Amino acid sequence: MRQSNRESAGHVARRASIENSLLAAVPRKEYRRLLAGLEPVTLTFGEVLYEPGETIRHVYFPGASLVSLLTLVDGHLGLEVGLIGREGMVGIPLVLGHNVSSVRALVQGSGTAMRMASARFRKEFRLSLPLQQELYRYTHTLMAQISQTAACNRFHVVEARLARWLLMTHDRVKSDQFRMTHEFLGHMLGVRRVGVTKAAQALQKRKLISYSRGDIIVLDHRGLEAAACQCYEVVKDMHDGAQAGYAMRKMRISAAA
Ligand SMILES: [Zn+2]
Repeated sequence: MRQSNRESAGHVARRASIENSLLAAVPRKEYRRLLAGLEPVTLTFGEVLYEPGETIRHVYFPGASLVSLLTLVDGHLGLEVGLIGREGMVGIPLVLGHNVSSVRALVQGSGTAMRMASARFRKEFRLSLPLQQELYRYTHTLMAQISQTAACNRFHVVEARLARWLLMTHDRVKSDQFRMTHEFLGHMLGVRRVGVTKAAQALQKRKLISYSRGDIIVLDHRGLEAAACQCYEVVKDMHDGAQAGYAMRKMRISAAA
C-alpha cells in the first residue's frame, strides 16, 4: 500500500525549500548529514504508519501530508488525540527512549514526507544537539496539543471542535481546500456520522465552509476562528511560539557564522 518515491539525496539537496519546519530549523551542515539517511516518500490517505504496541520502524517528517494520532478504545477506532503535519515529526516515542507506539498513526492527508529508519534516527539524534533541541521543543508542543485535545473532546460542542479541526488542518496543508469524508471526520471527532453532518451543515449555513462529497473549502477563515473553541488558539500560540524560537535561533546561527 505504501508508495515510496525514491529520489537521490543529491536531488533533494537541490530543492529550494525544505517542507518540514523541524528539518528546516536544523543548521545546514547538520541537515546535509541527516539528508543522507532521509528517504522521500508519498504517504497515502488511510495508510497506517503505526499500530499501538508495534515497534516503530521509521520516523516521518511530513511535508504536504498530514498524520493523525488515534487512541483505540476497546480495540476499536477511538478518536484523534493529535494531528501532525509539516511542523512536526511522527515517531516521538523514539525521542523519549521508547521504540513502541502507544497510538495508531493514520495518514489523513496524502502528500509528501521524509522518513528515516529508527536505528539511523537514534544515532543522528544522539549526535546532533540542534536536532535534540528542536525535537524536545516539538515534543512539548505535541504534549500540549494532546492534553488540550483531551479536554476539548470532553467539554466542547461538536460544531466548535469541527471548526477547530478544520483550522488545524488548514494551517498544516496550507490550502483552503482539502478532502475529508463524514465517516473519517466522525472518527477524528469521536462522534457519529449524523453529528458530523449536523455540525458541517451549521458551519455551511453560516457561510464559513462549503462541503460537498468530501470536498471541504474554507470560505471564511476569520469566521471559522470565531466559531472554533479556544483550544485552537491555545495550541496555535504554543506552535507559533516554538516557530518564532526557530527564527531567532536561525538568526543567531547565521549571525555567528
Ligand atoms: Zn476545544
